[in-house]
Amino acid sequence: MLTGDAAERAYDCDAYTVHRQHPNYVVFPETTEEVAATVRICNEHEIPFTPRGAGTGLSGGALPAAGGVVIATTRMRKILKIDAENRLLLAQTGCPNLAISRAVEHLGLHFAPDPSSQTVCTLGGNIAENSGGPHTLKYGVTADHVTGVTMVMPDGLIGEFGGKVAGGPGLDLVGFIVGGEGTLGIVTEAWVRLTPIPTVIRTVLAAFDSIRDATQSVSDIIAAGIVPAALEMMDHVILEAVEKAFGLGLPTDAMALLLIECDGEEAPVEIAQVTEILRANNAKEIRSAENETDRANLWIARKKGIGAIGRLSPSMVTHDGVIPRSKLPEMLEFVAQAADEAGLRVANIFHAGDGNLHPIFLFDDRDPDQVDRVVDAGHKVMKKCLSLGGSVTGEHGIGVEKIDLLGEMFDEASLHLQSQLKAIFNPEGNCNPGKVLPSEKTCVEVRVRRRAAH
Ligand SMILES: Cc1cc2nc3c(=O)[nH]c(=O)nc-3n(C[C@H](O)[C@H](O)[C@H](O)COP(=O)(O)OP(=O)(O)OC[C@H]3O[C@@H](n4cnc5c(N)ncnc54)[C@H](O)[C@@H]3O)c2cc1C
Repeated sequence: MLTGDAAERAYDCDAYTVHRQHPNYVVFPETTEEVAATVRICNEHEIPFTPRGAGTGLSGGALPAAGGVVIATTRMRKILKIDAENRLLLAQTGCPNLAISRAVEHLGLHFAPDPSSQTVCTLGGNIAENSGGPHTLKYGVTADHVTGVTMVMPDGLIGEFGGKVAGGPGLDLVGFIVGGEGTLGIVTEAWVRLTPIPTVIRTVLAAFDSIRDATQSVSDIIAAGIVPAALEMMDHVILEAVEKAFGLGLPTDAMALLLIECDGEEAPVEIAQVTEILRANNAKEIRSAENETDRANLWIARKKGIGAIGRLSPSMVTHDGVIPRSKLPEMLEFVAQAADEAGLRVANIFHAGDGNLHPIFLFDDRDPDQVDRVVDAGHKVMKKCLSLGGSVTGEHGIGVEKIDLLGEMFDEASLHLQSQLKAIFNPEGNCNPGKVLPSEKTCVEVRVRRRAAH
């Protein structure tokens, strides 16, 4: 257990650094029983608690309650069972995402959800956020790959939901728990599906002089009936930063890059069709991977893109919204305009095939005025997503960041039902308080907190 400065400073936020709040204790249990014991002690003393994995969340989901306890799963990293015959694996939820795939690589299997943070983010964080990743366009998000969980309920009891067989009788409680953002309990173990590693993979990277040509290519690829394993886009700000960091020899005057990967027996045919579409949309350069090393190099711009822009500013906020793919050109123009009006720089790196945007606003979080401008610009962008028929989150969750936008997305009846469902699991509201569902109280607290952070 950590207390004092170490707890206060290292655990006062996740990767959404706009909100910070000090916990009094950070506890590192190693088993389900230790999690349950911690929860029971918190309840005895009426102390709120917050589950936390690796803290890479981008919406403030692991922000601690002031003076509360953080229950960190980072010492719960064990892979407990591998059932290769049924392509299933049981792991503790502090296990990093990539460690699951590494553990079954020799069997030709992997865990398909692949958030770009996968070297560190935990299975529990993936479950709580229903995380996606570049390859979830074809393979589906976390919810499609979890068949059962063990969860310490907010009252300290241990519950088992689902198991090795998905879709059993009764209500789909596993489906409800995935995406609960730590407000329904602390998931300690999970059964996940394993997917064969594709043996045929084709990858291309294309550069464009205009964002419109790149986004039109995205629409045309999907309209042609091709579902690539991944279809990712990066703008010129990312490209410049990546070039400076890694010197890949990419055309730095390009305005957009598309990374497209097809896999399976049809991949060679599909990638030929994709290449024609890219040419028809004026791609100025197309690079193909000839082998695994080439492929890894093509992925650098995507996988290291966010890290590379860390060179450009002290802080960044990565927003997450969804729009119909056909609206990508209009939406990206809107993002650029919102950034201009706020006097901020913005970079875009995102899952274009899903219409899942990630505008990244660059700023300095020591300057309260810049923080306000970033938050306001983000809200404008999210409202635009809604007006285009989209959603305020695709994969990063609501956390504290989007809490006062949910009222714009759902009507009162839906919000009321969601609150009632949450209250069945978490009646006292002591498990990850102030997250996901809005109430007048949480909206006020969030605003006060944001300003108090400086
Ligand atoms: C560089 C970068 C790239 C990213 N790329 C992607 C991406 O491609 N796709 C994507 O979807 N996300 C992405 N993310 C966001 C983030 O990595 C994911 O949301 C991830 O699943 C969070 O995992 P974590 O272990 O860090 O969780 P944390 O940040 O620690 O927690 C996230 C939420 O989960 C809850 N939680 C954590 N563990 C548990 C548990 N055991 N039981 C119950 N609740 C729990 C917390 O309370 C919190 O609400 C990215 C983040 C970064 C910084």
